[in-house]
Amino acid sequence: MNFSLIRTLGYCIGGIWTAWGGRERIEAKQLKNLRRLIQTARNKSPYFNKLYTHLPETNLIKLNDLPVTSKVDLMDKFDNWLTDRSLTLAQARKHMDSMDNLGVPIGEYAVFRTSGSSGEPAVIVIPSSVLEFIFGLSLARLSKKQLQIERKIKKAGTNVIITGGNGHFAGAGLHKLMHFLAPRLAEKITFIPAEQPIGKTVKQLNGMGQIASIMIYPSMLAILTREKEAGRLTIEPKLFKVAGETFTSELRGRVEKVFPSLEYGIVDIYACTECLFMAFKCDCGRQHVLEDWVILEAVDENKQPVPDGELSTTALITVLYNHVQPFIRYDIGDRLRFYREPCACGSPFRSFQIEGRQATVVRVGNVTLSPLAFDLEHESAQRVQLVQTSEFVFEVRAELLNPDNPDQVFEQIIQSISAVFSKNGLVDVKVGKSDAPPLLTASGKFHEVIPLK
Ligand SMILES: [Zn+2]
Repeated sequence: MNFSLIRTLGYCIGGIWTAWGGRERIEAKQLKNLRRLIQTARNKSPYFNKLYTHLPETNLIKLNDLPVTSKVDLMDKFDNWLTDRSLTLAQARKHMDSMDNLGVPIGEYAVFRTSGSSGEPAVIVIPSSVLEFIFGLSLARLSKKQLQIERKIKKAGTNVIITGGNGHFAGAGLHKLMHFLAPRLAEKITFIPAEQPIGKTVKQLNGMGQIASIMIYPSMLAILTREKEAGRLTIEPKLFKVAGETFTSELRGRVEKVFPSLEYGIVDIYACTECLFMAFKCDCGRQHVLEDWVILEAVDENKQPVPDGELSTTALITVLYNHVQPFIRYDIGDRLRFYREPCACGSPFRSFQIEGRQATVVRVGNVTLSPLAFDLEHESAQRVQLVQTSEFVFEVRAELLNPDNPDQVFEQIIQSISAVFSKNGLVDVKVGKSDAPPLLTASGKFHEVIPLK
């Protein structure tokens, strides 16, 4: 696997040239890139060859002609899906068995996995073109102000990533990979696993001196915000980068209030392992799709397009810069809304607002409750989690701050939860204490409420 600066520059110059040409040039480039990808997929991927048998000639194909694909189908046919027959699912999984291999390429590719929070984890194959694309298009699309921040932040103190450390996730793996391929371009990063106890993370952060930036999941940032509010966390970072979950405006307000040191604000990155760079946030705060290389479609439950301005049920992505593992009209399960009006920043690229995944609701009997119905904060606890173990039985898991009477803390939390159930007419629900620590998703995300699967 080789990282080419020349190809990176090619992406950058091409990206600038396409944007200069406005809508017409963007759409022409997108169609050209789409047909190139379809041709490769037809020629080299047995899965797509079969899927596209009935379709017209590639140079006549339009996006809507193509069937929607899903993670389950593609993972099931993994060895027939890739356009390079030399890498098998068994090889990729074996490579990922050892954490020593995190960010270490396997032949021409890097491999990562998704968290699997929506079912089976997917194995994602990253050729060097993906990395060249990320660097090249960042240079082409980020504003002057954003590029200046990127430069300044590298020298402003320690840069930290807090993310899942129990698997080959792109969050921590990409930086290791860049150190391996292009050490001069890679940032120096301090990694903290999201799975470790909060007290340990707080201590580690407090002992770091000046922190420039922290890359983090919003759910973890919510916990750090609480720690800062309580006075236990003393850091004064200049920038937060959040990714991997929906970042609400409520949380943004709280973070900005308790961290007045945020000179460069909070950058909200919308991406997934399948498509590591799909949009850029402009100075007006909107997400713009990298339409020359990524097709993002807002669709309803029948996978039909929804008009701009309306909230979609899910979204489909087509990743035009990864020819090794084609993602074409791939359902990513996110809900979003394209803006009707063009953005004030003047960008010719379409902009959208992300609403996140459909909230994970809790079902008890005939009652459906939002996780937001429960107040799971307690002054003597760092993390509180409510787990549904059977339809009418719940347990509370918590990381406490060494209170004098832990049972009393649990009792108070349980009372507040039980009150929510009774308010909703559920009197037979049992809520008990669990001694087990809170559960995290495979990629280290913390969900306050875990409904029965
Ligand atoms: Zn804009």
